[in-house]
Amino acid sequence: MARAVYLDHASTTPADPEVIAAMLPWYTEGFGNPSTVYSLGLTAADVVQKSRESIAQTIGAQPDEIYFTSGGTESDNWAILGTADAQQKKGRHLITSVIEHHAVLESMEFLEKHGYEVTKVPVDSGGLVDPEDVRKAIRPDTVLVSIMHANNEVGTIEPIAEIGKITREAGVLFHVDAVQTAGKLPLDVTELGVDMLSMSAHKFYGPKGVGLMYLRKRARISPLLHGGGQEKGQRAGTHNVPGIVGMAKALELAKDRMNEDALREGALRDRLWTALQENIEAVHLNGDPVHRLPNNLNVRLDGIEGESMILMLDMQGICVSSGSACTTGSLEPSHVLRALGIPAEHAHGSLRVTLGRATTAEDIDRFMEVFPPIVARLREMSPIWCANCPCKKGN
Ligand SMILES: *Cc1c(COP(=O)(O)O)cnc(C)c1O
Repeated sequence: MARAVYLDHASTTPADPEVIAAMLPWYTEGFGNPSTVYSLGLTAADVVQKSRESIAQTIGAQPDEIYFTSGGTESDNWAILGTADAQQKKGRHLITSVIEHHAVLESMEFLEKHGYEVTKVPVDSGGLVDPEDVRKAIRPDTVLVSIMHANNEVGTIEPIAEIGKITREAGVLFHVDAVQTAGKLPLDVTELGVDMLSMSAHKFYGPKGVGLMYLRKRARISPLLHGGGQEKGQRAGTHNVPGIVGMAKALELAKDRMNEDALREGALRDRLWTALQENIEAVHLNGDPVHRLPNNLNVRLDGIEGESMILMLDMQGICVSSGSACTTGSLEPSHVLRALGIPAEHAHGSLRVTLGRATTAEDIDRFMEVFPPIVARLREMSPIWCANCPCKKGN
């Protein structure tokens, strides 16, 4: 059988061999705990600090504004719960969007259960937030706005800098989930006007289980994890030294190849979209055609059920997603696609293809060899494909 074709980079990426090589010595000779005072520990503390400086420089932050965490989910939870706790004298109202990752939405829902109020701003049919909607939602008791940089399902890139201007004028803290853009788009925390920003290493060819939060100096939030006083008492827990080293290395590599990767993956993505339109009828793009991550293609196919598409592609060695990996196994259509105004039955027929560094033209050709016959077979069996009904009008 042909080698597996991995087209699910929004879900996770393979760690770069250079990243692994940089990490390995910190599991063995350099295993010391950075919070100890003898030289083995100090060496580890030193590499943690060097990693912090390198990452800070890449995103236009000060080193002491970078806090290491266990990943995107923890950073999102911390930004939201930590702000809500620290700012409750000011108010108990938060703003987010309807298409956020579950790490944000469920943190918000947790707060609602504890007496906070949350406003979810809508998106247009491409998934874009209107900054004016954020402005209108801000109240005297608003303590946080949390809007993602790019959506993990449809790849829509939000107008973060414009929203940042509004939150700054209003004196409200602004958190951005940049998990999907870190390593893919240039990020500068000052240009974006953000107070907090979440990143996760495994989405940019780094190790799993490590991430960070950028926290602007003037922003006051409470810790989420309490314990040994690491990270200036803001995030307890022994540092994941190899993970931190790997994340810094992965971000350096990503910075060097960002433009090249975006151009190459964007061209392959466009080629795939053209081929799909030429070879399959009733296929539509989900998300914004312009404000979009270069490696993301999300399409819906009339008359098809997403889960069976994924399974049939898997039998041919092709990995793709229907919605977000986090909701796989549930029969609920994706909250993101529903928020774009796509009816439940069409949301079910959606497919997310996300390209990466190892994706080749041959991978795209292989996909196009396998996919149209799968669509044809599923439509033959489909009770909702209009060509099957007596009117035979097609969709
Ligand atoms: C993957 C992802 C997360 C979660 O990050 P983990 O490090 O896997 O916990 C959060 N937000 C977005 C947008 C993501 O794509």
